Amino acid sequence: MTPMPFLRIRDLSVRFADREAGIFRRRFIQAIHGLDLDIHADDTFCLLGESGSGKTTLASAILGLHPFHRGRITYNGPTINGSTIKQSNDTAHKSLRADCQMVFQSPAASLNPHLTLQQSIEEPLGAKGVGKTERREAVRALAGQAGLSHDLLSRRPGEVSGGQNQRACIARALSTRPRLLVLDEPLTALDAVARQQMVTLLCRLKENFGLTYFLITHDLALARQIGTRVAVMYLGNLVEKAPAAAFFAEPRHPYARALLSSVLRPGFWQGKRIVLQGELPSLRRPPKGCVFHPRCAERLPICTHTAPRPRAVAEGHTVCCHLFGADPSGPSIREPGR
Ligand code: SF4
Repeated sequence: MTPMPFLRIRDLSVRFADREAGIFRRRFIQAIHGLDLDIHADDTFCLLGESGSGKTTLASAILGLHPFHRGRITYNGPTINGSTIKQSNDTAHKSLRADCQMVFQSPAASLNPHLTLQQSIEEPLGAKGVGKTERREAVRALAGQAGLSHDLLSRRPGEVSGGQNQRACIARALSTRPRLLVLDEPLTALDAVARQQMVTLLCRLKENFGLTYFLITHDLALARQIGTRVAVMYLGNLVEKAPAAAFFAEPRHPYARALLSSVLRPGFWQGKRIVLQGELPSLRRPPKGCVFHPRCAERLPICTHTAPRPRAVAEGHTVCCHLFGADPSGPSIREPGR
């Protein structure tokens, strides 16, 4: 029997009030469309997609930092219903937030520039009422786990490197003993050497602390290196989700294939290079039918007016594309040269 996921998300939809609609008209921008996700306790779950695809909005909604208007999140038993509960106060979200910490893209911006690294790391412990001596000992242990030299604890973020600041952010995140770490583009600001050291560190910490990772990234090489499961987002829609090994061996959705083909590392992509045409459309005016159809070289007539539904193509692998429907109708309308 498949174990119950650590975190189960069903039909999650998020919308924002459109500020450009004027004061007398109420209009919404749909940012996330009815997503289903299962995250298991041993996962390094990677959420992939271009900037603006909705990755960070989804993470914020999961953690209760942004309300969702429809759907359910089940964590540790209790379920949060999007339409009925004030998300910031319900029990399941409190429990999820207590068990979760975030690590952001820019470590310097995440740390208070006026505090020493020691003070930043011990801050969450102080908020929990942990005494001064105990805090100091805990910070030294956490710094050791995060590979941060004790000599650096008396320095401020501006006096150490980006990699050292990110280690301090990780030590701070671990101070409350979370079960889930949301990593939002954690390596983007680092150079190649610091990046590789950080990958090794994240793998070690996952093992030592029994952590579940929810990694938001457009770094496909990183997702391939450490991911166990992968989901790809496009304009607020989940277009493909799969075990990482199956996804990187054979991505199915045309957008996912284009993303992988854009990685220029030797050996990363064996197939033909696919150059995406045009820009990500505006959430204010999403295309009808499949939202990817204006940029898709494989679109069918049906794609311009009917949104595809997710279909299973293998165990744990679903794709949201008419090419994987029972009977994609009509011939491809691929344009010459695309
Ligand atoms: Fe392309 Fe159609 Fe599939 Fe959308 S549904 S990705 S337009 S083939």
